[in-house]
Amino acid sequence: MTQALPEAVASKAKSMIRDVPDFPKPGIVFKDITPLLADHAAFTGLVKAFADAYRDSGITKVLGIEARGFLLAAPIAAELGAGLVPVRKKGKLPYKKVSATYALEYGTDTLEMHEDAVKPGEKVLVVDDVLATGGTAAAVCEMVDKLGGKVAGIAMLIELEFLKGREKLAGRSIHSLIKY
Ligand code: AMP
Repeated sequence: MTQALPEAVASKAKSMIRDVPDFPKPGIVFKDITPLLADHAAFTGLVKAFADAYRDSGITKVLGIEARGFLLAAPIAAELGAGLVPVRKKGKLPYKKVSATYALEYGTDTLEMHEDAVKPGEKVLVVDDVLATGGTAAAVCEMVDKLGGKVAGIAMLIELEFLKGREKLAGRSIHSLIKY
């Protein structure tokens, strides 16, 4: 059973996210989380909040999506007592891989993970900084499904609700701390 994420942690984190208009291209408002990462109390607060939300879920692997997802997934995995799995852009991982191609809010890309990173039946948590159109997270879930793992949760620091990412993740359990 997962718990709600605390409002105080969310509002502190939200106050530290910087909007950068027209990055990386015109029309995109980039959610810059670096001020939040740089604040010890805010960063550790959100890591603990996510870990608490999934502590009783039997999660044994936390998947971080390149690149900002790594920064969140690693401390959440350590706090949960779970292993860490990097999900990387095409061509970065050295061993045998599964892959999935997806559409971003800006562009398309292919993600890969090692084929032995998740065992059949293993419960995993998928972590990233921003849920936008949902294509990235859906591609990661597709790879977990291919490997026979179970997506026990999707943890997003930020959800851009107007992009309706949840529609691509129907039936999945999603926790986002900050919503726009
Ligand atoms: P999507 O596949 O559309 O849900 O896009 C999610 C991915 O793109 C995440 O890995 C985010 O890091 C990145 N992303 C999308 N939109 C933004 C945004 N407005 N600000 C920062 N990162 C974003």
